[in-house]
Parts: sequence; structure tokens; C-alpha cells
Amino acid sequence: MTNSPFADLLLPHIAALEPYTPIQPFEVLSRQLGRAPEQIVKLDANENPYGPAPAVREALAAYPYTHIYPDPEQRELREALADYAGVPPEHILPGSGADELIDLVCRLTLAPDDAIIDCPPTFGMYSFDAGLTGARVLRAWRRADFSVDVERISESANQRISESANHESRITPKLLFLTSPNNPDGSLLDPADLVRLLKLPLLVILDEAYIEFAGLEHSLARWVLKYDNLIVLRTFSKWAGIAGLRLGYGIFPTWLMPTLWKAKQPYNVNVAATVAGLASLTHRAEIQRTVDALIVERERLYRALADIPFLHPYPSRANFVLCRVEGRSAAELKAALAREGILVRHYAKPGLENCIRVSAGRPEQTDALLAALTSVAG
Ligand SMILES: *Cc1c(COP(=O)(O)O)cnc(C)c1O
Repeated sequence: MTNSPFADLLLPHIAALEPYTPIQPFEVLSRQLGRAPEQIVKLDANENPYGPAPAVREALAAYPYTHIYPDPEQRELREALADYAGVPPEHILPGSGADELIDLVCRLTLAPDDAIIDCPPTFGMYSFDAGLTGARVLRAWRRADFSVDVERISESANQRISESANHESRITPKLLFLTSPNNPDGSLLDPADLVRLLKLPLLVILDEAYIEFAGLEHSLARWVLKYDNLIVLRTFSKWAGIAGLRLGYGIFPTWLMPTLWKAKQPYNVNVAATVAGLASLTHRAEIQRTVDALIVERERLYRALADIPFLHPYPSRANFVLCRVEGRSAAELKAALAREGILVRHYAKPGLENCIRVSAGRPEQTDALLAALTSVAG
């Protein structure tokens, strides 16, 4: 592949990208593990195991217009989202998952020699999408308790020169990515830190993918109305149980909206996602019962993991618990659980050495995990 005479046609920064390690499809895993999909306890991707509300499935089944292109302006969905998020629809842009909006914001703002400020350990898509544009990633590491380090971020924001092995170049930091609750630890951003960070000459993207699990009262979405440099991203993937349909949305300052409308793919949100999103908002009280059940399970999971001598869990406001593994290999622990049909996420990245992340599941899934951990420990 790389030795084709046409390989030179690729942009060098794209050809040099690190390969992305995707999650294996469910069917592939099921074959590898020799277990039927319904026998697999999938706690590795923070999906809602209860799936969509029955009314959402019914709305999808009854939808008659799959042969017609979607509304490029998503008017009905944006009205419903405005009510849900507490901001006027003029500020809202739906996307094919929040992931699409991260990519869109990067493509609107970044060129090679621009930079983003990433606050690892955190979600991987910010540095991935920045890399696609050729921009640099400046890393302002979080503290040991996963809180953001405002001083480090400010230093990065003022960094103008980058020194690499054989040359130095001028760089312009433009975007700051923050996540609340943060993935993979589940901590909330302190609003006082955000106030300070919004004073920097940066566009701040606050990713609230898990905010429903912290409680919507912790959402800072309405701050977009008073700060011209704040974007808030949200998604239906985690709370509403429709990760496979791909629906997210951004809340943007008004000055940015005309450019977003011009730059987005006209039919970026498909009709199935729209129908499911609308039905989810109509039936949100029903979905909230699964969110409440997952919060109960998260707390039970945290307490049970804390009782296991080789695990050190971190408190979480999302639908997962990050756990440091002590005195044994997290990679081996993940593999041993997989042999029992239980999938968890394993990390070996800086700041997440020897860690696993476990999604909150149904009570019987927590039971299966805890039983497997006991037998693995024995
Ligand atoms: C899962 C996740 C997303 C992606 O959401 P989609 O709407 O499914 O693209 C965004 N941000 C964080 C922090 C996530 O964990």
C-alpha cells in the first residue's frame, strides 16, 4: 500500500497519522469469544444497556419517509433540543454524533501550525481530529485527581514557538477541549475553572457527552449565551441508548452559526437519528428511569470495586468507573474477564497506566462482573 507510486499523492501529515484502534464489532467479538451476543456483558463503551425507550423503537418502525432526504436545517429537532437544553434553536446544530461536530470545529479553525490544547487523560477524538488537519496538539496534563490545571493550560495558550528535533516554528493555539464529566474518570469540571479559562484568547469546546448522568443542573450549556468563545457539545449516544444511530448536537455562539451552516454536509443527520432523537425527547421521563438505574449501579459498582484489594476506583459522575489495578497486570485482568464474556476497557496510556474502565450496566451485569473478579482473584 505505502509503496505504490501514487502514495506521494497523500498529504504527508495524513500518511504519518497513528493508526486508530477501533472497538471490535459486537458480532466479531461474539465469534472470537464463542458466546452469543446476548451472553456478552458489554461494559467497555459506556452505552446504555437498556437501549432506546420502546416508544423510540415504535417511532422508528412507523416512520414512512426513509426514501426522502432529511431536512438540512433539522428545524423540528432543533426546536425540541432548544426546549431540552434551555437555549434558543438559533444556537443549535445537530450532528452525526458529537464526534462529527468535533471534526467540523477542527476543520473550520485549524491549519498546520495552528494548535489545540488537549487536557489528557481524556477522550481521544480531540487530538485525533486535530491531527487530521495537520495542527499540533499541546498537552496540558490533568492533576492526579483528574482536575484541569488552569496554570498549565494558560502556559500552553501563550506558547507561540514549537521546537521539534531539527527546527522551530511559530504556532497559534486556537482551541481548548474540556470534558465534563471527563472520560475516562468521570470528574466534573469546576465552573470557577471554566470562568478563568474563558478569559484566554481561545475557543473553548466543552464536551458534555455524559452530563445526564451527573444531572442536567450541572450543564453549562446556557453559558454559551453569555460567552462568545464557548461551544458546548452533547450527545444522545450515552443517555438515550441510541449510540448506533449517531446523533449529537452542539450549542454554539451566534457569530459561528452562519459558518457552520455553510461548512456542514447538508444531510449530515439521517432521518432515523432524527426520528429517534425527537421520540427520545418526547419520552425522556421514561429514558430517565434507565439513567437513574445506571446511576444507582454506578454507585454500587464503585463501592464493590473499592472492596477488592487489587482495585482502586475513582469517584465518577458519569456512567462508568475508572479503576487503577494494583499489584497485577490490567491487560491480563481485561483478558481474563473477556474469557468470561465480560468486556471492559483497558488503558496503558500515560496518566492511565494499568487502568481499566467499567461502564455501569444492568444489576445482573454488575453481578456477573463482580463474580468474575472474585474468581479471577482467587
Ligand atoms: C462517547 C463520547 C463522545 C461521542 O459521542 P457521539 O455522539 O457518539 O459521537 C463525545 N465525547 C465524549 C467525551 C465521549 O465519551
